[in-house]
Amino acid sequence: MVSGFRLYVVWTGMILTIIRIALKTSRNPYHALFLLRSLVIERKSIHGNAGRNKAVKSDSKYYWSINIPGWPSEKFNYFIANEFRRIISPETGALQTMIFSITNVCPLNCIHCYESDNLANSNRLSLNELKSVMGKIHEKGIRHIQFSGGEPLCRLNDMIELMKYSGNSTDYWVSTSGFGLTPEAAAKMKTHGMTGVIISLDHWDEDRHNAFRNHDRSFYWVKEAAKNCHEVGMIVCLSLCPVREFVTEENLNKYYLLAKQTGAGFIRIMEPMKTGRFKGKDILFHAREAEILSDFMNKCNRNPAYARFPVILYGGYHQRKTGCYGAGNRYMFIDSNGNYHSCPFCRNMLGNVRTESLDLAITKARGSGCQLFHKA
Ligand code: SF4
Repeated sequence: MVSGFRLYVVWTGMILTIIRIALKTSRNPYHALFLLRSLVIERKSIHGNAGRNKAVKSDSKYYWSINIPGWPSEKFNYFIANEFRRIISPETGALQTMIFSITNVCPLNCIHCYESDNLANSNRLSLNELKSVMGKIHEKGIRHIQFSGGEPLCRLNDMIELMKYSGNSTDYWVSTSGFGLTPEAAAKMKTHGMTGVIISLDHWDEDRHNAFRNHDRSFYWVKEAAKNCHEVGMIVCLSLCPVREFVTEENLNKYYLLAKQTGAGFIRIMEPMKTGRFKGKDILFHAREAEILSDFMNKCNRNPAYARFPVILYGGYHQRKTGCYGAGNRYMFIDSNGNYHSCPFCRNMLGNVRTESLDLAITKARGSGCQLFHKA
């Protein structure tokens, strides 16, 4: 973790990079100022006046989020230039991220599984089909990919082939239960350019996490996976899906301490949504849970006492303020059968990769929007 004066120096360097990209994008100083001002307004509408007082350093790059490439890098420059293109042309602005399920297979049986309708013993998309999807994603200018599943580690070699196929201009992350993330698997992913790993951990208590995941080795694998990723220098993000009963100050503090001990740089909090096995269930947050989590995030990200603890990413806080960033806005989702959706939790079947163009799917996603969080 980086904080204090060092972070200030890094922040200054990054701002200078952003100014340079604004000037390069518009070639007119007044218009460049407009772009910069718009970016600042957008950022303030999301985060408020106080930013995060820490960042994660990995391979000489600094990360404020798992959704933005590390600075300094060409991928970061590309991301910022894309943000400016979105300001210039909001209707046609490019997507930044694709969440891409590459397998139907999973050894677990989680009580909240969002992909439960698609899980199977074998994969429905061949490696060649996956490669052709990667081609479409690359062609569309998307340079940030989050592999998911099923359990992507069940298809490790194919995932590596996909990373080779689309090249090192893309930032790769993988969402995993950690199951089977051995030292060898971690080394292979790192060698081929995986930036970070998002490991699901749904409780600080081993038995409760295992019950949630319906597997008595799940917690063990979370810890093993985190350790193995650290050893090869990949960023670790823990992903928490907190059910309403979990959202108490006490549980969150215990989880935060455990996350620090595992060496996580980030914690991503994903609210339960009525998808997959949670479909039709009374699981959505009330205002109280969202408030507790927002306060917790703001305290942990801004209070210097937590400077050495992980950065908290809680999308629900931002979605309630500014609307959703999925649904063809900044990201979209392709499920393990090859169907496009607005996001992993807004299932709305916008066509299939075999028959539908990505462009059309994006247009449809923008038309339907997010089902839960509307633009303010
Ligand atoms: S949520 Fe993920 S890890 Fe759990 S059963 Fe579904 S695909 Fe597998």
